[in-house]
Amino acid sequence: MARSVARLVVSLLLLVAAWAPTVAQFDPAKVPAQAPGVAALYPEPRVAYTTPSFAPGRADFTSHAELTAFLATTIEGVTHGAVRTMGRSQDGRTIAAVIFARGDPDIAALRRNGRPTVLIVGLQHGNEPAGGEAALVVIERLARGDLAPLLEHINVVVVPRANPDGAEVFRRVASDGVDINRDHVLARTPEARVLIGLMRELDPALVVDAHEYSVAGSWLRNFGGLARPDVLIQAATQANLTPAIALLQDGTFLPALRNAFDAGGLTHDWYFTADRDPRVVNMGGIEPELARNASGLRHAAGILIETRGIGIGRTNWKRRVFSQVTAMEAALRTAAKNHVALNVARDESRRFDLARDSARPLVVRARPSPERREMVFVDPASGAPRPVTVEWRSSLKLIPEVSRPRPWGYVLPPSAMAAARRLVELGIAVDTLGAEARLPVERYRTLATERGAGETILGRFELERVEETIAAGSFLVTLDQRLATLAALLLEPDSASGYVAHRLVALDTAGRVPILRLADAPDTHVLALHPLR
Ligand SMILES: [Zn+2]
Repeated sequence: MARSVARLVVSLLLLVAAWAPTVAQFDPAKVPAQAPGVAALYPEPRVAYTTPSFAPGRADFTSHAELTAFLATTIEGVTHGAVRTMGRSQDGRTIAAVIFARGDPDIAALRRNGRPTVLIVGLQHGNEPAGGEAALVVIERLARGDLAPLLEHINVVVVPRANPDGAEVFRRVASDGVDINRDHVLARTPEARVLIGLMRELDPALVVDAHEYSVAGSWLRNFGGLARPDVLIQAATQANLTPAIALLQDGTFLPALRNAFDAGGLTHDWYFTADRDPRVVNMGGIEPELARNASGLRHAAGILIETRGIGIGRTNWKRRVFSQVTAMEAALRTAAKNHVALNVARDESRRFDLARDSARPLVVRARPSPERREMVFVDPASGAPRPVTVEWRSSLKLIPEVSRPRPWGYVLPPSAMAAARRLVELGIAVDTLGAEARLPVERYRTLATERGAGETILGRFELERVEETIAAGSFLVTLDQRLATLAALLLEPDSASGYVAHRLVALDTAGRVPILRLADAPDTHVLALHPLR
């Protein structure tokens, strides 16, 4: 009975998908033709895919209705898989996760089965479809194909379409214009909150974040060529990553992915982006707000995959999806092979944060190091290589700009309720003070403030030791918790991803920071603490 109902639902979904008006997910007229010399660099791989966008005669990408129907039919009758709606987008579209686990494919059960969990996320940016389509290929192979045996050692959760509204209209950002990939600590969008909720519930050991990068645009302007590599990769790059996570990324996952790309005949490089300065090429950012770096600070290895795809419509479509599938498959096989090491690294990383090691200062602000680097772009007319020397800003070697000792904890005033609640949403423990107390604290003295990127405040501060009366109803965030580093980076006022920089915690009229640091443990009994939920 249940099966026939499921089949009926699937048929209805397929009908809806067939009836839905064809949405032009991109404008083919705006896609420049690829010169034969360039096309020759990207031959179509000899693979067959059966996901919706590969149907014969297709001119656009998989729609939301097709995605929903595909997930239902693919998982139907699969005992080691389940499709769950994790939330809804701003325009009301479902955000689905497919959960794969031997035994009980239920999110609540995953943390108890002892196997490390890999989380794969596609389409945080709606105009980068290859990662989302590759996620469907991987879902098919985990459900009924050659990847299913990996579930003996790992759980896999796939969110093929994190930004369904953006994907439907082929737009980078969410419906309200927010970049979901930069919303992993501010949590303003329901889309980012779905991913943050999954991170909290799953406690994954590896997060794979699939994107596409811009082929022409700034590269043509700055270097007279198109970007060349099939795929760019970067792990979490944050100045405060624990050694366990850095080693897992650099020693295990990145080499495995590179080997897989080489075996598949795919060219690859570090992830890079253009700069306003035309001579400069930046590696991917180091801010905690990015999904990849937030994963790292949550004690998961974070891997970013970027295929050569923005601005070229369906050009090289199969090769782009093949590049993404190659990366995801390598990540899954490597995770399964190293499943014990993954659990060990996560536990070790967590202990590192719990320890509040005074010998390990907090790097509040850092910048990438400048290097000269030879790069090769592609002549858009002939496909000939165009070698250039660039100023490369490496996110692999970071230069600390502001460092401070880790305090015992932070105190926020009662007026910072919104920030306190946001911390709790991220999985950071916050206590409320039940009684007023007079305590020795470190206060920030504001040296200067200026406008940073967007609406942010970029300030310079120094610490002074004073005695302060802490009001009842203030919030206490101690650093003896597993997300201690993430918490500290949100509460230090000069941190670029911090809640002061993003005005979630307002400076007072005199420009003073209302957050205080407790250098030493106070008598917590006197504070009458109770947890904020
Ligand atoms: Zn992207």
